[in-house]
Amino acid sequence: MPRVSQGSFTFVGQYRCLDFVNTALIAARSGADPIPDFEGLVSWLHDAGLIDAAQRSLALHKWSSGREAQQAYAGAMLFRVRLMEIAQRLASHRQAPISGLNAINEQLQHRVTRATLMRGKSGYFERFETDLTEPRQLIVPLAQSAADLLCNGDLSLVKRCANPSCSLYFYDISKNHTRRWCSMDTCGSRMKMAAYYQRKRLRRARS
Ligand SMILES: [Zn+2]
Repeated sequence: MPRVSQGSFTFVGQYRCLDFVNTALIAARSGADPIPDFEGLVSWLHDAGLIDAAQRSLALHKWSSGREAQQAYAGAMLFRVRLMEIAQRLASHRQAPISGLNAINEQLQHRVTRATLMRGKSGYFERFETDLTEPRQLIVPLAQSAADLLCNGDLSLVKRCANPSCSLYFYDISKNHTRRWCSMDTCGSRMKMAAYYQRKRLRRARS
């Protein structure tokens, strides 16, 4: 089962790039950005499973007061805008804008991946590790998520929640690809409940 929420963050997008875009929608809706500063960004990345506890601790203790960290945060917020433009286009069945692809490529250039040859029970394999040695590399996994979505995802499955007061983006992994809500636990049950009372009111009005 996909995680719907972890701590105070909401994860309904299936792709972390969509979850990241959703934080901007939540910010616009509630007036409080779930990612208000560099520390918030680090917490979000950790809860999203994009950095581990050691990397979170490194980022918070070594970087958080530095200028590079502030630049990384500003870069993340700009990147969120570019990802939002991509999500908007995909959800309305259009192509991702070139500006969005350029923004992803710019982030992917900061990626440093090391491969280690290992021997396991069923043979040899390569293990890939992505370096995190400077604050701007924190955003790389989000760029990777967006690249994964564009390269390997079925782009017709990028949708927005049908609850008009929600409208979060999600990637529909339901069996028949008929999912309409970001989450059945929240918007799904709320909208079904609203439809139920609407039908009841109509029945009462007719009788
Ligand atoms: Zn929703």
